[in-house]
Amino acid sequence: MKTIRTAAVIGSGVMGAGIAAHLANAGIRVRLLDRVPDRLTPQEEASGATTASPAVRNRLATDALARLLKTNPAPFYEERGSRLVTPGNVEDDFESLRDADWIIEAITERLDWKKELLARIERVWTPGTFVSSNTSGISIAAMAEAIAGPMRAFFLGTHFFNPPRHMPLVEIIPGPDTDAEVVTAMRDVLERRLGKGVVVAKDTPNFIANRIGTYGLLATLKLMAEGGYTVDEVDAVTGPALGRPKSATFRTLDLVGLDTFVHVANNVYERTDDPAEKEAFAVPDVLADLVSRGRLGEKTGEGFYKKV
Ligand code: NAD
Repeated sequence: MKTIRTAAVIGSGVMGAGIAAHLANAGIRVRLLDRVPDRLTPQEEASGATTASPAVRNRLATDALARLLKTNPAPFYEERGSRLVTPGNVEDDFESLRDADWIIEAITERLDWKKELLARIERVWTPGTFVSSNTSGISIAAMAEAIAGPMRAFFLGTHFFNPPRHMPLVEIIPGPDTDAEVVTAMRDVLERRLGKGVVVAKDTPNFIANRIGTYGLLATLKLMAEGGYTVDEVDAVTGPALGRPKSATFRTLDLVGLDTFVHVANNVYERTDDPAEKEAFAVPDVLADLVSRGRLGEKTGEGFYKKV
């Protein structure tokens, strides 16, 4: 099995950037790729930039890393002074995946997008390279349908938790054709090099931790509405009062991203026939409403709370 020296992380959102930085902290050189932004910022327009300029084309990944550096003390994602994460985009830099020992898919929680990306990865895949998805709970088997050849043996779920630097758990979810030695090798990398605690989970909707966590958060939202409690009251009683860190129900939802949370709730809702489960995983109007207004949590500056 390959030794991991270089990795590529695709998707530089809440999770991808954090995973890339965590890998870099462990001495792994990382390419962090996102999409080319579909429009210019007002500042870019004012400066006369076009979408052809590299600064614009790599903006999503570059900005994500800058945000991480702002909120994490130095020398976050630096080793011996050299930056180990190189930002890029999937249009110009896809060929760089040929050099990666491990490719991590961390794009938006949508099966169709993930399948399209995996099919594209397979076209540049170097035999022996590990390919994993950070999905919160989409079926690994369903994603693997996009892969036709031997890459299927090297594909699995590696589900990091948010924030990846601090949360110790990573769920490994083998797919239908994942080689047992690939699972062992990944476990070894996650535990020994990245300092994580690994749980091997079955490929059930939302795996283990999110099946429970999403259920709990949705139940809290529904009970809150019935009881007429405020956001602050619920965060107070579901946080420190229960011996949890300060980021409780709504702060947690804002940190996760409300759009991502809705996708994750739907992972179960759309795949169950059990009426009780359908009821439990139905997304409350308050969440759907915030998402439709673009209030997605910390990543947009406003969710249940406003970022100051
Ligand atoms: P996010 O919305 O913060 O970021 C997703 C990023 O993917 C965006 O920057 C988007 O531009 C990019 N993207 C979308 N399609 C792309 C493509 N085809 N090529 C390149 N980039 C693309 O999402 P996130 O919260 O970082 O979640 C990413 C994955 O991790 C999802 O599968 C999610 O379920 C999972 N996850 C999220 C959390 C969490 O707390 N947010 C925790 C664990 C796992």
